[in-house]
Amino acid sequence: MQIVILLGAPGCGKGTMAGRLSASNTSFRTVSSGDLLRDAVKRQTPSGVLADGFMKRGELVPDALIAQMITDYMLGIPSDCTLLLDGFPRTVVQAEMLDKIIVANRATLSAVILMEVPDSILIDRIAGRRGCPKCGAGYHVLSIPSKIAGICDICGTALVIRKDDNPETVKNRLAVYQSQTMPLIAFYEGRGLLKRIAAHGIPINDIFENIRHVLS
Ligand code: AMP
Repeated sequence: MQIVILLGAPGCGKGTMAGRLSASNTSFRTVSSGDLLRDAVKRQTPSGVLADGFMKRGELVPDALIAQMITDYMLGIPSDCTLLLDGFPRTVVQAEMLDKIIVANRATLSAVILMEVPDSILIDRIAGRRGCPKCGAGYHVLSIPSKIAGICDICGTALVIRKDDNPETVKNRLAVYQSQTMPLIAFYEGRGLLKRIAAHGIPINDIFENIRHVLS
């Protein structure tokens, strides 16, 4: 198994790019740590009950909890795929846990894609984000609008704003990214794995092609 980490602040477009990459190549699989957690919260599993408060405050859930969920996810996918990690790792401790998971699965970390977007743009991007609560499709009121405003193109369900996309929680999530996740940039740069991608100011298709080029 090849592992590719998508790294970047909330709102940088990791989820959008992961979705497009998976759709473009059948050997790609994506796992979003945020989606795994939101699903666990919805189903009220023990992990979900524990994670709920952290997520509402825009804080990170405990490292061991999310590392276990990623480990479990990896057990269920083919060993010859390329796994795109969206949102994990988010701390240096998680990166060290991932190293162990990689060894245990005889996997290889092939690249870490850092999607760079200025903070001012992130806040606007998050404000326009909408999602389908039924099928999980993601939209943005300006850059990826649904055909009918507020309605999912795929399943016709009314779109919602994520609970943690409110301005107060977003401020906290960006601060958490700076203090706890940004150290990963130096961590992976030191290993020669970091690839920087400008994820703003150019069309979404060009961002996608630039990432594909880096991975080819
Ligand atoms: P996301 O959908 O990636 O923006 O994640 C939403 C929320 O889930 C974050 O604000 C955290 O509370 C939690 N979360 C997601 N991934 C992680 C992770 N790798 N470590 C800790 N908490 C996480």
